[in-house]
Amino acid sequence: MSVLDQLVSAIRSAAIEVVDLTARLDASTPVIQLPAPFANTVPFSLREVSRYDDRGPAWYWNDITTGEHTGTHFDAPVHWITGRDGADVSAVPVSSLIAPAAVLDFSAEAAADPDFLLEPAHVRQWESQHGPLPAGGWMLYRTGWDARSGSQREFLNADETGPHTPGVSVECARWLATEAPVIGIGVETVGTDAGAAHSFEPPFPCHAALLGAGKYGLTQLQNLAVLPPTGAVVIAGPLPIVAGSGSPARVLALVERS
Ligand code: MN
Repeated sequence: MSVLDQLVSAIRSAAIEVVDLTARLDASTPVIQLPAPFANTVPFSLREVSRYDDRGPAWYWNDITTGEHTGTHFDAPVHWITGRDGADVSAVPVSSLIAPAAVLDFSAEAAADPDFLLEPAHVRQWESQHGPLPAGGWMLYRTGWDARSGSQREFLNADETGPHTPGVSVECARWLATEAPVIGIGVETVGTDAGAAHSFEPPFPCHAALLGAGKYGLTQLQNLAVLPPTGAVVIAGPLPIVAGSGSPARVLALVERS
């Protein structure tokens, strides 16, 4: 049997499970809220074109309105000023869209402290148990935040001092960008940076360092809890929006079950 026949057969027999890491898209899907004077993206919406009626008697279809960074989505290097000469989302090599993933679970830490920041020492501790982060793969950072994705308020978790959601430290962002062998980071939160990262020096270090290094972001992932620490393969499908800074994406994981 060819390798692809084996793959299809394993998926059919559930020896390989396909896990959906994607949030549902509708008008209530949380979107980031930047403070004034910054511009904001609009919520996702459908506008009916026809529904088996005078406008189209046998067919139903909609126009969609969405931000590039809405719901589960892909950040391309050009999203950030540090990556302005890098790839737009249509130029991301398709071979990077299927890649191995390490899953680092810091949901207990994030539950105890919503401003929890991942440090290089946390990753090294994880590596001492599970081996190195996968070359050419993703570091998926589990924080339990997907459980809040049904509510914009709980998901953004903002108070008068701004949003409080977990992320990575400045040092960790630099380490992931320059030393770790990964192509990017995937998170469960609204963006790859911590909620308080507007106040970091530099601000939004994860975006600045990773996208500036030509790496990628995956955000608002779900179901990381059912993935093993190592061995899963991520299939990320952003739309090839020409000149796009990112795109909503269907993100799946393949997991071998024995
Ligand atoms: Mn984004």
